Amino acid sequence: MIRSMDKVVALCKRRGFIFQNSEIYGGQNGFWDYGPLGTELKRNVRDAWYHDMVQAHNELLTPAGAPSPFQMVGLESAIIMHPQVWKCSGHYDLFHDMMVDCHECKGRFRQDHLPSTPCPLKPSRTVGQHTSCRLTEPREFNLMFKTILGALGTEDDAAFLRPETAQGIFVNFRNVVDSTRVRLPFGICQVGKSFRNEITPRNFTFRSREFEQMEIEFFCRPDQSRDWYTYWRDRRYNWYLGLGISLDRLILRDHHADELAHYSVGTADIEYAFPFLDAGQYGELEGIAHRGDFDLRSHMEGKLAKNAAGELEVEKLPDGRPKYRGSGKDLSYFDDQTRERFVPHVIEPSAGADRGTLAFLCEAYHEDQQPDDKGELQERVLMKFHPRLAPVKAAVFPLIKKEGMPEQAMAIYGEMRAAGLSCQFDQQAAIGKRYRRQDEIGTPFCITVDGDTAQDKCVTLRDRDTLQQERIPVARIVDEVTMRLKS
Ligand code: ATP
Repeated sequence: MIRSMDKVVALCKRRGFIFQNSEIYGGQNGFWDYGPLGTELKRNVRDAWYHDMVQAHNELLTPAGAPSPFQMVGLESAIIMHPQVWKCSGHYDLFHDMMVDCHECKGRFRQDHLPSTPCPLKPSRTVGQHTSCRLTEPREFNLMFKTILGALGTEDDAAFLRPETAQGIFVNFRNVVDSTRVRLPFGICQVGKSFRNEITPRNFTFRSREFEQMEIEFFCRPDQSRDWYTYWRDRRYNWYLGLGISLDRLILRDHHADELAHYSVGTADIEYAFPFLDAGQYGELEGIAHRGDFDLRSHMEGKLAKNAAGELEVEKLPDGRPKYRGSGKDLSYFDDQTRERFVPHVIEPSAGADRGTLAFLCEAYHEDQQPDDKGELQERVLMKFHPRLAPVKAAVFPLIKKEGMPEQAMAIYGEMRAAGLSCQFDQQAAIGKRYRRQDEIGTPFCITVDGDTAQDKCVTLRDRDTLQQERIPVARIVDEVTMRLKS
């Protein structure tokens, strides 16, 4: 496997996976656009997540490793929410990074990234290590994007683009419990855009200012929350492996006690060895956090903070009033079996759809050499996507543009699309070149109609990874490809 980020980025642009945002105007730092193939790929990542976490979930069975059966439901909340949400969640006061400016190069940097950021004036040194660096004292910078609502809006009408989808789930907890038949334990899942005004967006789509999250808030009894935490941590790690990420590049890193948020009994990150990182370094794909009852209580009572005894209580102003009032609504849960009322504990597996997509792109990138139509070895770029994620599932070619082959190929292409398989038709250039075009975008199967097809009613099915070619009856080709995509 090739560990070159430049090559992955170049392929993304060349084949229409990812483009720089507003490129014709010089680009907009921290924002990216997905091209036709990237759109399909990212949609497949999201769909795989939603299917595996929600749609295919059987709430009557206990999955392997789970303490009991459980339910999973979906939600889609708005990007802009009541400003009080962010005051009570802690984002208004606490969601910031420390930044420093350099008087010399005029650069702005995240303080915690300084040890890995090359100095713009002397890239062989990191920022702060070069003798001319003149850094300011670190200052707080809130990462939430602010906007003003309404035509006559003033500062009092300020609102924020959500920096995470999770809070939309917490504030709808009561609605979901009251409007559906979910009982504890259960999870509410949401996929959607989030926005963070990152100080230094970098590493392609890894750190952007607009990105998509796939989040689960899993509600359970407090006395079972440790077991559920372990279950979700392991299940989410295995999800990436099942979609083709290799074991040597994926780690599950448990946070040390001093890294944990004050309310958490455990947090783990699923991290991937991205090619832009040094050997032995990993970047976060997903965090799985045990959040206790912090979020539901904060939205009920007001923003919580630790008191001198280390317990969570509503943060007060010097005059004794709560700093931020909660909703005052009852977000507790009544267990009708045990006749107990309590605030559920929460396990939060929070994944980034863009970071996941980027990891699948990096993992898929391979190069080898294959003989061309004249038998000469040619460089081949091969994207080994898992068949579920591949943006194009099959390509259909007529060997030549005559003798009825284009018509037969077109009929197969139509059947593939009617069966819901994303498919391409290609009759330009020599067959070897067409195979290479499909290998470069990760199409698992190519189907060729040739001179024998009219007689034997068979086509050649070529496998992207094994390069094996088999004759398959035309009448069975859609079923055959469908079956192979699932296996
Ligand atoms: P980091 O430490 O890398 O800034 P984080 O710990 O703040 O990430 P979370 O708040 O746990 O991230 O968000 C959950 C997930 O959302 C992350 O694991 C990541 O996949 C995704 N994510 C967060 N920030 C960004 C970003 N700026 N660009 C792309 N994806 C992001």
